[in-house]
Amino acid sequence: MDFSTLLRTQTKVIKLLNNSILKNRLVGVYLFEGAKGTQKIEAAYYFASLLMCEKENKPCGECLSCRRIKEGKHPRIFFIEPASKGNILKSQIDELEHEFSLVSLEEGIRVFIIKDIDKATLEASNRLLKFLEETSSTTYGILTTENLQSVINTIKSRSQIVSFAKVPRDVIIEEYTKRGIKEELSRVLSILTNDINEGLIYEKDEKIIAIIELVKAIDEAIWWKEKEPILVLNETGKFLMNEKDKMYHNIFIDLMATIINDHIYYKLNQRNEITFIDADLDVNCEVKELFALVEKVLVYKQKIKYNVNVELMYIQMLIEMTR
Ligand SMILES: [Zn+2]
Repeated sequence: MDFSTLLRTQTKVIKLLNNSILKNRLVGVYLFEGAKGTQKIEAAYYFASLLMCEKENKPCGECLSCRRIKEGKHPRIFFIEPASKGNILKSQIDELEHEFSLVSLEEGIRVFIIKDIDKATLEASNRLLKFLEETSSTTYGILTTENLQSVINTIKSRSQIVSFAKVPRDVIIEEYTKRGIKEELSRVLSILTNDINEGLIYEKDEKIIAIIELVKAIDEAIWWKEKEPILVLNETGKFLMNEKDKMYHNIFIDLMATIINDHIYYKLNQRNEITFIDADLDVNCEVKELFALVEKVLVYKQKIKYNVNVELMYIQMLIEMTR
């Protein structure tokens, strides 16, 4: 568990958590809420480090507790996430209670973390509420959700709600470039997801990297006409035609719209908004026409939802774009 991104992107939350320890304002249950990618799980482990660190300057990062948390194997931290069918089940809360009964109170603070508490079944929620009534003052619960409205009221009223702010795009881009990822790819990843961890997985996905290259090659063919865009699609994009996972098709369409948008940003002199910074964006086309092109592309985002022949669909899209 690495806290560096958390410490840079959620300064308000960090301050609040630190203060609750310093000023002795701890409560038994916390509900961390915020959009995907806002580092809530990292914050949960960070908070556990604050609670469990054995040194003055918490979290020291070096004591046994801190090291165990960083390695993800602290014996008194229990982590639960949605299991089968995407739900948190009563049996998982039963198991939590069982695990807790195995560690003695003298051993000190115990922490449980439940990811996506909004996914708990009603049975599991009720079981959890009962469990909370029985826990000791050395037990802390951290619940997380991306969807506060879906958390049942009895759990909300039982918890201190901590809101996580959305991470600004330029901060996300910086997080990637700091890890040695090229700026253009960093910008593309920031378009595909707000979640840095997910972006880092995308960066290792050969299909996504190939889609990015394909989008750039098609864009070049559309404007500089050295090759027919459909030919580029057939040569460079063969892999995409056989792809069953719709996620990749969504990414392809999103990035096609993104690169056309970049031509608009270029013309409007909004350079900071540009994603494909290495592409040749200075094209001979009016902004109005470019907007119309983006619209045309986005229509295909709807079409992907249905089981259509993607090859024919993309050919049709390119014909419309070059008309
Ligand atoms: Zn420590």
